[in-house]
Amino acid sequence: MKIQCDCGQFQAEISHFPKNSAGRLACYCDDCQKYLKKLGREDLLDPYGGTEVIPVYPCDIKFLSGRENLKCNRLSEKGLNRWSTKCCNSPIANVKPFFPWVGVIHSAYTRKDPQFLENLGPIRSRIMGAYAHGRPPFKIPQKMDLNAIVSVLPFILKGKFLKKYKDSPFFESDGKTPIVDVTIL
Ligand SMILES: [Zn+2]
Ligand SMILES: [Zn+2]
Repeated sequence: MKIQCDCGQFQAEISHFPKNSAGRLACYCDDCQKYLKKLGREDLLDPYGGTEVIPVYPCDIKFLSGRENLKCNRLSEKGLNRWSTKCCNSPIANVKPFFPWVGVIHSAYTRKDPQFLENLGPIRSRIMGAYAHGRPPFKIPQKMDLNAIVSVLPFILKGKFLKKYKDSPFFESDGKTPIVDVTIL
């Protein structure tokens, strides 16, 4: 499985997909919205302000090309590391040190094959509905609900147990220093 930026200069390979994935998730929180707005990529939000990600394990990602195009931003000093590309301003993924989670943004999967996500089935869980706009035709819990926990907990527990946060291509060998300088947005 390959993911890429809009222009294709940045490419990465994901192994064990979709077996080792938490599936399609959508977050409506104000940070995710703020980030895509600051990036000038509101076009990637759904009509209600949601950001769709399909999380995979850090050790399952290998960069193939365009690593030099990557940039890393945070919304605050301690915020998530949010990665995008300099070549074509595409968000790629959000990551946290020592956490078995690379939240790859949906568009990185669909640039080559727009149908790709449909093949994965519907969105499994939506969270942080308190920040959603308009009147979504589906239910979003204010924060989280049991369905959200059931959707991601097995993925996180397995990842922690098997140390799948190790060998992340986004961090230096210490596992916590991003491979490029971080800019706070
Ligand atoms: Zn690009
Ligand atoms: Zn969010």
